[in-house]
Amino acid sequence: PTAPVGSLLRAAVRRWGDRTAFVHHGTELSFTELGRRAHAVAAGLAERGVGPGDVVAVHLPNCLQYPPVYYGVLLAGATFSPTNPLLTPAELAHQLADSGARALITWDACLPAVRAALGDTAVRTVVVTGPAQIADPTAPVELPEGGVDLADLLAADPSDAHRDADLDPATALAHLAYTGGTTGVSKGVELPHRQVVTNVLQSGCWASGSLPARDAEGDVTLDQVGDPDEYPTRLGTGCAINLTPWFHAMGVIGYLNGQVLSGATVVIHDRFDPVAYVRDAEAYRVTSIGGAPPVFAALLQVPGIADADLSSVRGLSSGAAPLAVPLIERLTALFPGAVIGEGYGLTEVTMQATGNPVARSAVRKAGTVGLPVPDTEISIRALDTGEELPAGERGEVCIRGPQVMRGYAGRPEATAQSIDAEGWFHSGDVGVLDEDGYLAVVDRTKDMLLHKGYNVFPRELEEILVGVPGVAGVAVVGRPDPVAGELPVAYVVRRSDEAGAALTEESVMAAVNDRVTPYKRVRAVVFTDAIPVSPAGKVLKRVLADREREAAG
Ligand code: ATP
Repeated sequence: PTAPVGSLLRAAVRRWGDRTAFVHHGTELSFTELGRRAHAVAAGLAERGVGPGDVVAVHLPNCLQYPPVYYGVLLAGATFSPTNPLLTPAELAHQLADSGARALITWDACLPAVRAALGDTAVRTVVVTGPAQIADPTAPVELPEGGVDLADLLAADPSDAHRDADLDPATALAHLAYTGGTTGVSKGVELPHRQVVTNVLQSGCWASGSLPARDAEGDVTLDQVGDPDEYPTRLGTGCAINLTPWFHAMGVIGYLNGQVLSGATVVIHDRFDPVAYVRDAEAYRVTSIGGAPPVFAALLQVPGIADADLSSVRGLSSGAAPLAVPLIERLTALFPGAVIGEGYGLTEVTMQATGNPVARSAVRKAGTVGLPVPDTEISIRALDTGEELPAGERGEVCIRGPQVMRGYAGRPEATAQSIDAEGWFHSGDVGVLDEDGYLAVVDRTKDMLLHKGYNVFPRELEEILVGVPGVAGVAVVGRPDPVAGELPVAYVVRRSDEAGAALTEESVMAAVNDRVTPYKRVRAVVFTDAIPVSPAGKVLKRVLADREREAAG
């Protein structure tokens, strides 16, 4: 597809019109009004000199204002660079300086951190919105000196927009997205419009069984093929609750764009309260539940969940981190009629590379992340020699397809290290393909431990540990050891029940060590109240590994 991202919005507005696109704290936004506001934001930015070639940092929590701001930035021909509103001023300053952002759109409560971060960045325009503008887009908000109220952008004439028509989707940057930084410094990933549109459609094909096509105006659309019942996670006229942050790849590509395109009504929850989630899931008769594994783990813990009426749910989709097999089993028991799909990807491949097929009749393999999405190839390479490995052997997961990033912004060496001459992106994940081409992600190369010269994959141990009665959460990291190099140590969160209270270091070690070869054995157990996770739902191993390193001196 060669259309710009704005094409997705125009196709959705034409197709879904007055249906409700988003609901936030009871306030509804129709597709038509979403389109109008997005074009007004684009025109308002253009009036202030923000346009093609400019980077706009969007520093907002998920809120009703986010979708019109997102599409507005892109319709203006500018580049969307999302930042996590929980970043410290120093982290925000790094991203603003690195991205060269000219404008920043933020939330009033974030202003103190924003003021501290702006320093000598290139930001000239600060646009502010806040919770008061959810129900009333013209409500006053606190403005810094020289700041612009989002209400003023929305007052621009929407017909002045449509500037994205002149963009070359193959070269114009749509997203400048920062990697989560769970393994090191956060890098800017350059994604032209073509990558973004392609991956939204690839992901849509995976989730819905639809094929991308063009509508009468030449914009992309998704036309349903086959029987809608075959594709249970297709939202169509369905409904979902949004939780995944839109500053993250899975949130903005997999959910925001995918749901707008497919005409879903999305109920925005700006914080995760599992009890409120279940209540709204019943009230809105949600058809699909999506999120990172911790979301599903938390839903299973909601008191009375087995009695909730969740019969409207046809599909569950997970991504961003591994969905443990015991968790899949518990979800299958709770949602007997629903299909469970799991996707795999990285910011560097826009969002998605593979997924377990979601068509009802297709074969899903628990413990794998499925097959490549359309036009995508996966190759497993030896960790030492880089040679391509046959099915059944573990190596680095390499990905080739139209969704692979252009490169890391301003880091030609890092780009050359991760994308080879044949266009393969080296993911840093260790994986294995089975005979049918299904990919299992074993671990990340950076999380791998070296014990007496043997590779130990923490995820293999975590898979066993999450199945131990009484264990609510787990992460295995390395403890430096002068003799063995590294010792596998399990951080364990107890469940708040009897089985949890009965856990001891010995019982946990016995449960896992009887099932693995001696060099993989867990050598110590640390009970903890919580495993640190990033807002996107990934375990922050670095935090625990640093703790172990510091303790070892
Ligand atoms: P950084 O790369 O800076 O550490 P990050 O991990 O947050 O940041 P993302 O692009 O958000 O960067 O995450 C990509 C990683 O998430 C993948 O490399 C993989 O390790 C993991 N991942 C994503 N989906 C899955 C999945 N379904 N199963 C297992 N791991 C997954």
